[in-house]
Amino acid sequence: MKNIAIIGSTGSIGTQTLDIVRANKDLRVVALAAGANVELLEKQAREFKPDIIGIWSEDKARNLRQALSEFNIRVVSGMDGLIEIAAMSASDILVTAIVGMIGIRPTVEAIKAGKDIALANKETLVTAGHIIMPLAKEHGVKILPVDSEHSAIFQCIHGEIGVGNKISRLLITASGGPFRGKDSSYLENVTVDDALKHPNWAMGKKITIDSATLVNKGLEVIEARWLFDVTPENIEVVVQPQSIIHSMVEFEDGSIKAQLGTPDMKLPIQYALFYPERRYLAGDRLDFKKLSEIIIDKPDRETFKGLDFAYNALEAGGSMPTVFNAANERAVALFLEGRIKFTDIYNIIDACMREHKVIENPSLSNIFDTENNVYEYINQILRR
Ligand code: NDP
Repeated sequence: MKNIAIIGSTGSIGTQTLDIVRANKDLRVVALAAGANVELLEKQAREFKPDIIGIWSEDKARNLRQALSEFNIRVVSGMDGLIEIAAMSASDILVTAIVGMIGIRPTVEAIKAGKDIALANKETLVTAGHIIMPLAKEHGVKILPVDSEHSAIFQCIHGEIGVGNKISRLLITASGGPFRGKDSSYLENVTVDDALKHPNWAMGKKITIDSATLVNKGLEVIEARWLFDVTPENIEVVVQPQSIIHSMVEFEDGSIKAQLGTPDMKLPIQYALFYPERRYLAGDRLDFKKLSEIIIDKPDRETFKGLDFAYNALEAGGSMPTVFNAANERAVALFLEGRIKFTDIYNIIDACMREHKVIENPSLSNIFDTENNVYEYINQILRR
């Protein structure tokens, strides 16, 4: 029996993780946490009967305590609640299915408590990869990637790194998002609904917008840099609009391994939960007879600036990836609220990165201060 805790259980990754639990009787959910969706969290608690659940607001936690009084379930709230769940003694693995930098502290505490991490929350590695990876090594815990691209790379290097084989290049694939082939003037007038129509993947809103700006691919480049210890110049992004090649690895001898499959996040989630074991997973299979071609293209980095921002942030190093990430988080929220245009996401990230003076080797408190400074600077921009 493997005991799993999930933070972000009501979201896209969280609910798909629970589908995997339903299909595998040797997984037990010991904790669940959500932000605001109290109805779904209550439903999940009734079905999985975890030891503990968390919801962000204490008011909602109070209501949940009442609603679930017939069960022996502890209900916690806020960051203290998330940390309690992350580090709880009963769990073997924490699934970080929460969105945004709020995932950093629970992830750090889970690692310190010796929990393996099934990491979906890429924002944690983007901003604090230099802290997370050494900490995981120190505590002997595995960081198991859930992002499909990083899972693909992880699957490709299985059996290679352990025998001393070296990666010479990572080829991270991108779908290109809903606006592939469009130019900057087209992007000026796109709506929230347009941007939320991802061609291949059904995901949470924030990552769907990030896919449309290509910021998501930029975040993934930084995530890959930390997960696989590869320098930025050896990480390349290629567009694969069908989303069937999930990423590729080139080794020193020129051999390239790719991982393919239908676009279904359950596969990387399940791989992370049972690594290195593979299990049956229901779902569509790739049919090469129906596939007339596999398309590979290069990204339009001039129109979709998310990738260049990421490479620039990596080059500047230190706290700059935090600025890139925090500026994007806030800008995407403003776009989703209808307060700024799609292209303003780029303008805001650009302005914040230009303004910032890099802090080398930032501590966690430097990272959170930087996040707050970025938010304050964006407020100033909005007031102008
Ligand atoms: P969703 O927006 O669908 O879900 C986010 C989850 O986080 C929800 O359960 C939400 O709860 C929870 N949450 C938000 N704020 C808090 C909080 N303060 N306390 C506790 N829980 C909170 O996002 P996704 O599932 O799409 O993405 C999650 C992470 O996984 C992101 O980092 C994303 O980049 C990454 N990822 C996602 C992929 C996907 O296919 N969706 C693919 C690869 C990576 P509630 O809804 O109740 O507010």
